[in-house]
Amino acid sequence: MPSEGGAGPLIRIENVSKSFGTFKAVDDVSLNIEKGELFALLGGSGCGKTTLLRMLAGFEAPTAGKIFIDGQDMAGIPPYDRPVNMMFQSYALFPHMSVEKNVGYGLKHDGMTSAQRTDRVKQMLDLVKLTDFAGRKPHQLSGGQRQRVALARALAKQPKLLLLDEPLGALDKKLREHTQFEIMSIQEKTGITFVVVTHDQEEAMTLASRIAVMDHGKIKQVGTPTDIYEYPNSTFVAGFIGSINMFDGEVTKTSGDVATVQIAQLGGPIMVPAADSLSAGTKISIAVRPEKITISRSRPKGPNSFSGTVKDLGYFGKDSLYRVKMPSGTLVMVNSVNARRAAESERVAQWEDDVWISFDPQSAIALKG
Ligand code: ATP
Repeated sequence: MPSEGGAGPLIRIENVSKSFGTFKAVDDVSLNIEKGELFALLGGSGCGKTTLLRMLAGFEAPTAGKIFIDGQDMAGIPPYDRPVNMMFQSYALFPHMSVEKNVGYGLKHDGMTSAQRTDRVKQMLDLVKLTDFAGRKPHQLSGGQRQRVALARALAKQPKLLLLDEPLGALDKKLREHTQFEIMSIQEKTGITFVVVTHDQEEAMTLASRIAVMDHGKIKQVGTPTDIYEYPNSTFVAGFIGSINMFDGEVTKTSGDVATVQIAQLGGPIMVPAADSLSAGTKISIAVRPEKITISRSRPKGPNSFSGTVKDLGYFGKDSLYRVKMPSGTLVMVNSVNARRAAESERVAQWEDDVWISFDPQSAIALKG
C-alpha cells in the first residue's frame, strides 16, 4: 500500500478499542498526534495508557479501529517493520556491553557500514552528552546516565516515532526534574515525535506540548498543559491535575456575561462567567484552584468573598497552604506565595485567625460532569 508520508498527522488513531476477554482496556479512542510533538498519555494505574502505547508499537493488535502511522495503516505490521522505537522503563541495557556497544546494538542489521555505525553512535553519544563515558559498562553509570544511554540507543535508528513508557520512573525526584529538561531538549534537537506514558501529572505538564488525560480506557480531554490545567472539561480532569477546591452549586440567574451560582458550602452566591449552557436551575460543580484564592484579614471589595477560620497552615518556604473552615464546615484550600521575606508573626494569617477568602469570577471553573 502506498504511503502518504509527509502530509497529515504522524499518528492517526481511529476508534481504537482493545479488549482482554470481556474487559475493555482501551475504549473507542480517536486521536491525532502531529509530527514533532512531545505528546503525553496521562492517567492513573490501569487506565489503558500502556495498552495504547503497545498498540502503536505493534506489541498488541487493536480489537477494533485503525492506527495509521505516517499515513500507513498499521494493521498486521509487526513491531520491527514500523517506523517506531520504544524505550522501556527498565532501560534493558546489556550489562556486559560498553555504552558505545549498547547504543550501536540495534544498527547491526540495518545494512549500515561499520564506519557509518561508528559515526551514528558518536553522534548519539554527543546528543545525550555521554561521549566521555563511551567505554564504561552500565553498572559504572548513574541511573540518569543509564537512562540517557537507553535514549541514545532508542534514537540511534532514527525512528519517526519514539515511544517512552514511564521514562523517568526509576529516577529520584531531583534527577527526574533535571532529566525532563534533557528529554525536551533532545526531542527538540532531533525533531522526532515522542509519545510518553506517565501517571505523573507534573511530569506530563512539564514535558509535553500536548496531553491526553485517560480514565477507564477513554480519553477525557486532549490539550496543551495550560488548556488542561486552566480549562478542564470535567470534574475528573479538574481533580486529576493539581489540587482544586470543588463546590456543588445551582445557577440562580444569568445576566449578560455573568452567572450567579448559589453555593451552600460557601454560604452564599458567587459570580462566574456565563456560558451558553448555564441557565437558571442548572446544577453544576464549581472548581477553583487554591492559588487563585486570596486570603486577607479584612473584607476585600468585589464579589466572591467569604469569611472563615484558619484550621491548618503548612509553610513550604516558597509558598504556604492554608485550609480555611467555612461556617458550613467545608474546608477551602488556599495557596499563597511567600513573595517577601517575613517572620512567622508577620504572616497574613495564623491558626484560628478569622480571615476572608476571595477569588476573581474568571478563576471559577463551571463544570457539568
Ligand atoms: P499502569 O500505569 O499501572 O501501567 P496503565 O494505564 O498503563 O496502568 P494498562 O497496562 O494499559 O494500564 O492496562 C489497562 C488494563 O488492562 C488494566 O486493568 C490491566 O490489568 C489490563 N490488561 C493489560 N494487559 C493485559 C493482558 N495482557 N491481559 C489481560 N488484561 C490486561
